[in-house]
Amino acid sequence: MYSEDHWLTYEEVRAITGYSAGLLLEYNAVINAVPTRWKTSGAARAFQPPTLTFHGQIIGTWTTSLVRSKLVRNKYKQPCAVNFWGNKYVGFYLTADIWALAFKCTPETRLRVLHFKITHNIYPTNILLRKMGVAENSNCSFCNVRDYIEHFFYNCIAVREMWAYIENELSKHAGSKVSLGEVDVMFGITTGYNAHIRKYLNAYILVGKMCISKYKYGQYHDLKLLFQHEMSLRKQRFQQLENDQQIEND
Ligand SMILES: [Zn+2]
Repeated sequence: MYSEDHWLTYEEVRAITGYSAGLLLEYNAVINAVPTRWKTSGAARAFQPPTLTFHGQIIGTWTTSLVRSKLVRNKYKQPCAVNFWGNKYVGFYLTADIWALAFKCTPETRLRVLHFKITHNIYPTNILLRKMGVAENSNCSFCNVRDYIEHFFYNCIAVREMWAYIENELSKHAGSKVSLGEVDVMFGITTGYNAHIRKYLNAYILVGKMCISKYKYGQYHDLKLLFQHEMSLRKQRFQQLENDQQIEND
């Protein structure tokens, strides 16, 4: 490492040994192991070890949170669902508000997971179950049309009555007519109304979708009754949402 009155530079060492992936680190390890006073005499003082950088950042200044943000957060990859739904509904975009919607309006894991599956288009309707070899065909078990996820939750003849009932109930709550379109049912409501009312409507819609899921795959005879029952179990929670709204208004 010390030759002809000077410490060899990294380039000189590399010219001798040839390039290898770990060479720069090994070189620095050796140079740093040399006591400082050895380096302070003569030409050795002129020695400047190359600065080690990683992703443009000097290695000594990396912290764990920086590693996390550079390697994890900056590697954001858009979920396929963004394009999928964008192609299906003209002008529609899966915003951050939609992704976070269930986390804001309900503490229930089951409802949050359901929202996650629907937004990612991975909820198992007969189309997916058929691919898994669980269902006999890809059509809806109730009306025999292709069981797309929006059919399953919104367009199916078996669920229309429940949504009409829910629209009616929500209109009473919001104080004006609430009409739930396909996109509203699929992803919740992110515009219009004030934040408290939205929270209430979205929690309500999520319970509706959970009931559809239970009804279609379970042993229930009446979807509307099932919904009313599920809502009665959550009475306190919805009362709380209503109180929050009242406080806001006062
Ligand atoms: Zn159907």
